[in-house]
Amino acid sequence: MTKPIFISHPIYESSTYGSGHPLAIPRVSLATDLVKALGWLDKTNYIESREATHKELVEFHTTDYIRFLMNAERHPPSETDRVRYNIGINGNPIYPEMYRRPATACGGGQIAADLLMFDEAPCVFNIGGGQHHGLADKASGFCYLNEPVLTIRRLLETGARRVFYLDIDAHFGDGTQLAFHGEDRVYTLSVHEQGRWPQRRGVKAGDPGSVEDRAGGMARNLPVPKGLNDTEFDYLIDTVALVLIKNFAPDVIYLQCGVDALADDPQSKLELSNRAIWRVVDELKQLGLPLLVSGGGGYNPFSVGRCWAGVWAQLNGIEIPTFLNGGAERLLRDVTWHHHKAKSPPDRWFTALADDPNQGPIRGEIYDLAEKSLNN
Ligand SMILES: [Zn+2]
Repeated sequence: MTKPIFISHPIYESSTYGSGHPLAIPRVSLATDLVKALGWLDKTNYIESREATHKELVEFHTTDYIRFLMNAERHPPSETDRVRYNIGINGNPIYPEMYRRPATACGGGQIAADLLMFDEAPCVFNIGGGQHHGLADKASGFCYLNEPVLTIRRLLETGARRVFYLDIDAHFGDGTQLAFHGEDRVYTLSVHEQGRWPQRRGVKAGDPGSVEDRAGGMARNLPVPKGLNDTEFDYLIDTVALVLIKNFAPDVIYLQCGVDALADDPQSKLELSNRAIWRVVDELKQLGLPLLVSGGGGYNPFSVGRCWAGVWAQLNGIEIPTFLNGGAERLLRDVTWHHHKAKSPPDRWFTALADDPNQGPIRGEIYDLAEKSLNN
């Protein structure tokens, strides 16, 4: 058992979803550069990902879909195939690395799983992973392949008896939950903004992602109201997530660490500070179980880069510095982001990792959610 391992790859820097897409911003590459500039990464704790093999990918995805995705990098897909595989439409663009990039995220997950199962690392940050909407035979919600599903399957194959999946992305982790429907070795808990895609507006009791949705028994969902603050989030983590984890007694924990629930993010109406995200990472680490952390959503480069850099600090027990050094600050000042949220950016986007805490009252809806999710 050595130290935490960080997995990334230069492909996250050299490829892009195409201008105008919410993911056409530096995220993984910026966070990786920040941790390097802060002196938190070296040859001994960094592994460059590889692409997942065809054999690894078809553990979940259909052969037809994988073949299509590989070919689509070279030949523009037909209209029929675009519709069939949900690519080239609905926010899932055709771009030059559209197979290699997600396959690299999945390869990172395979490496991470093996490091944990063979006791070579206590925790791993596969920062390019976390594509929780991906379906077996098609893309969904910017996710072409489902890294969490493939990784959890690898964990089970290599000896894990029970895996707990905690998904704190602002969007419902539908693809992962669906893949493990009725699988009693995998417990999934998704905390997400109520009524936001892939949930419908006017979502009803029992619909996917609702607090009543149990996906065959081993799933819980916490659809939270807009404006979620740090105190409310902490409360749900302590009274629901940590309790469910203890009861389930997993061998491994997978944290899908999408950071679009941050107040600075343009894609949700949740209002967390990055301290709340770091606290979850710390709480999970304290449990002393093998811990795999992935990336996920996050659509403000400044908030994503700073939050994920801080996640890595938490995994290593490094104290977050009050101010960034010159190198890290320069990386942030060099980022261009064309969004109205960037018109008068706060200083901390450039000079510090931590946001101000966003504490507040716990609303009645939050208590109700906690109670309902713990009732059998
Ligand atoms: Zn998301």
